[in-house]
Amino acid sequence: MNKINVLSSNLIDQIAAGEVIERPASVVKELIENSIDAKSTKIEIHIKDGGKSLIQVIDDGHGMSKNDLKLSFKRHATSKIKNQTDLSQIKTMGFRGEALPSIASVSLVNIKSNINNNDSGYEYKIKGGQKISFKPISIIKGTSITIKELFYNTPARKKFLKSKNTEYQQVTKVVRTFLLSNPEIEFIYSHNEKNIYSLSAQTLENRLKNIYGNTISESLIIVDNNNNNIKLKGYIGNLNLIKKRPSNQYLYINDRYIKDRLISSSVNKAYLNLIDRGEFPFYILKIYLDPEIVDFNVHPTKKEVRFENEWKIYQFIKDSILDSLSSIENTIPNYQTIKSSPSFYNKNNLFTKINNINDITPKPTSIPDLLDTTTYADSKETKIASNFNRMFSKDQKEMFFETGGIWQIANKYLFAEINDGIIIIDQHVAHERILYEEAINALDGEGLSSQTILFPETIKFLPDEYNSFLDILKYFEKIGFKIREFGENTIIVEGLPSSIPLGSEDNLLKNILDEYITYNDNDTSFMHNIAATYACKGAIKAGDKLEIEEMKALINKLFATDNPYYCPHGRPIIVRMSEFELDKRFERI
Ligand code: ADP
Ligand code: MG
Repeated sequence: MNKINVLSSNLIDQIAAGEVIERPASVVKELIENSIDAKSTKIEIHIKDGGKSLIQVIDDGHGMSKNDLKLSFKRHATSKIKNQTDLSQIKTMGFRGEALPSIASVSLVNIKSNINNNDSGYEYKIKGGQKISFKPISIIKGTSITIKELFYNTPARKKFLKSKNTEYQQVTKVVRTFLLSNPEIEFIYSHNEKNIYSLSAQTLENRLKNIYGNTISESLIIVDNNNNNIKLKGYIGNLNLIKKRPSNQYLYINDRYIKDRLISSSVNKAYLNLIDRGEFPFYILKIYLDPEIVDFNVHPTKKEVRFENEWKIYQFIKDSILDSLSSIENTIPNYQTIKSSPSFYNKNNLFTKINNINDITPKPTSIPDLLDTTTYADSKETKIASNFNRMFSKDQKEMFFETGGIWQIANKYLFAEINDGIIIIDQHVAHERILYEEAINALDGEGLSSQTILFPETIKFLPDEYNSFLDILKYFEKIGFKIREFGENTIIVEGLPSSIPLGSEDNLLKNILDEYITYNDNDTSFMHNIAATYACKGAIKAGDKLEIEEMKALINKLFATDNPYYCPHGRPIIVRMSEFELDKRFERI
């Protein structure tokens, strides 16, 4: 008795479908690639219920003849390569001849195609890999393919699908990679008959504006560099476009969207002194290489690649990005400041510095209890003090106000005399702590007041992001934003929390939204994140010169918080050195 069977071709297709077709988004990817390979100038994508009940792709490409249409659903049937030489010279998106048979083996497919502009097209219907019908129909030149009942015969795979909304977001992400790889193609994209994108053929810059809103062009920096066999084109974003998740990072090799950890990290490295850990720059980079030196055939969905001399490519990319970044140094707000104080922006350096001081200092928790919540109202300082919720008692006030012992060092640290020594305060993290607690209290309490702005700003979201934004609108209102709907996926901000500097609201909203999209399944961590982001954006920066009154105010407010010693991210805020400690250091005792 034989134990080994040769599998039927239908079963082989189903197994292959497991590799190529994971979810609606993978179907959409394969179909758009086929339309691009067919030299289409216009591609329509319509989906329903996140693609679970319908996926339709219509193109005006070269179409298929009667025979080709029949062959297209056979496994390893492709018009794109013929021999081994072709395999090393791939210039098309597809070449493995797997997509259509894989899709057809797990769904109901209806495909119509014509190579002429007359009525001589054909329609082919297949379900679960079995032909249902094949007949002449009338269709203009191009191809229209409809997928229904995806995974109807592979229940396990169907169970792995996420909610309609999640699948919709996945499809939208995939569609967007194509909108950006092929701006010269006209695209229409709809979900549940609602138009999501309708974009005419255009330049990459205009396409970016259509997707991200017109103001993006102010924040884009061109990248355009060549060496012998690499060409690099595209845009990188300045600091306005920094995000908390790597969602706006597009990398293409020979117009194919790919993921490459090393290339991404070489781009991120170029930004090293400009951004914090956990922050991601915007980029859309198109790398063009001789197909001979790239191998796209390492992954069934061709998401990963291998190439020769990879380190040369990484170095070239990093150098090109550094060039582009330095060419606009002066136009990035605060770029000079940021560059000249890398220690502040490089957390490692910051930690070493502060830790050194801590080494010779008692732990911050041993700071004398400066806080007294008694209201202080009977002195000449009342005017300053009345701005704050809680103040120092008369005695404690003396420590700062009367001795006058406060200095700002390097526009970064506050140095203050206390009755048995000195304290050093990091002004940015101190303010962060104050705003953080303010936001936390506002989120489950009364809410913060709002300041009307003179020139309200419109902000455009990606359609999938907009859905999530609406979920958390109420929190923005709580922390002092006044927001109205303003057309499709667009809002207008009419009021801001008073602590937030004008012009940073766009960034702040998007950062918080990113936090939400990343952590939305955990309520407390979201509250923490929204407050921390608000605090980080609103806080004065290292490098900001403070007036003496502002320094006093900052210290007062800091000691009125629940935890003046550590910032929301766990960085120390205060370093104390006692008189005793000083005496010891100077060997008096
Ligand atoms: P591959 O793209 O790897 O060749 P597919 O299974 O995706 O494999 O497609 C099989 C063949 O069907 C393609 O090689 C192409 O000749 C034809 N085809 C598929 N989609 C289209 C389309 N939209 N327009 C024209 N031809 C198409
Ligand atoms: Mg294909």
